[in-house]
Amino acid sequence: MTIDSTAINFHEATIDREIAERHGELWDADQNVERAHDAVHRAARDRQQRRMGWGMTGEEARATVEQMLLNENLMAHQLGYLRLTLDTLDTAIQTQDEAHEAYRLAETNYTGWTRFFLVQNANGHIHSSLQCSTCTRTTRFAWLTDMSGLTASDAVEAHGERLCSVCFPDAPVAWHESYYGDEKKARKAARDAERAYKASEKAVKAKARALTHHYAVRFTRDDGEVFTHEDRPRTLASVTREVEESGGADGYNGRYEVVDTDTGEVV
Ligand SMILES: [Zn+2]
Repeated sequence: MTIDSTAINFHEATIDREIAERHGELWDADQNVERAHDAVHRAARDRQQRRMGWGMTGEEARATVEQMLLNENLMAHQLGYLRLTLDTLDTAIQTQDEAHEAYRLAETNYTGWTRFFLVQNANGHIHSSLQCSTCTRTTRFAWLTDMSGLTASDAVEAHGERLCSVCFPDAPVAWHESYYGDEKKARKAARDAERAYKASEKAVKAKARALTHHYAVRFTRDDGEVFTHEDRPRTLASVTREVEESGGADGYNGRYEVVDTDTGEVV
């Protein structure tokens, strides 16, 4: 995405785009070093242990290859291959060092604004840093540099409700729960949000009504006779308290109803 020079986050996005480029180069350099290390292990005739990595340490593998280079019985092309694996590793490590330094330098321009990183898989979340505890070292991120310096709600608007709940603990739950590839969750989050909104509306209305309505208390005596007491404006809480304080007295056995006399409804 190109950056609009009038965007409110032009400064942050421009700097982060530069840093992200350096970060991408560092990622590639890391991968190259790993590949070069593997080549040295293979040249040393090391074996890969199941799930445990190589049998030798990197240093042992290198020392083994260096020892093999002293073998006078090897053919020129064999020696050439061994030398090449060591040279390739040295070059990869040097490039990695340079990439690391370039990234570190670029990062000194960062002064702490918001950042957003999208994990590149079907249900990938948006994280606020590359160091999120829910991600692994091999997690691939897309750095959303055009969002740098903006808010979590901007990120949701642009990329959907897929915020990481560890990185954004204060964001509304609906921004965490629904993400691409999971329509069911998205619909449930929308329903929950609607229900919560309606409940809050209802609570506000009930509160307003409690203050302005007339309430009466309707007692039913044991012999079936009904008495209505105290028809006057008051809050529902005060009428309920009043009834509870006198409840069960006078043979009413606590059988009563609070009636909203403006609407005739039993509350
Ligand atoms: Zn996270």
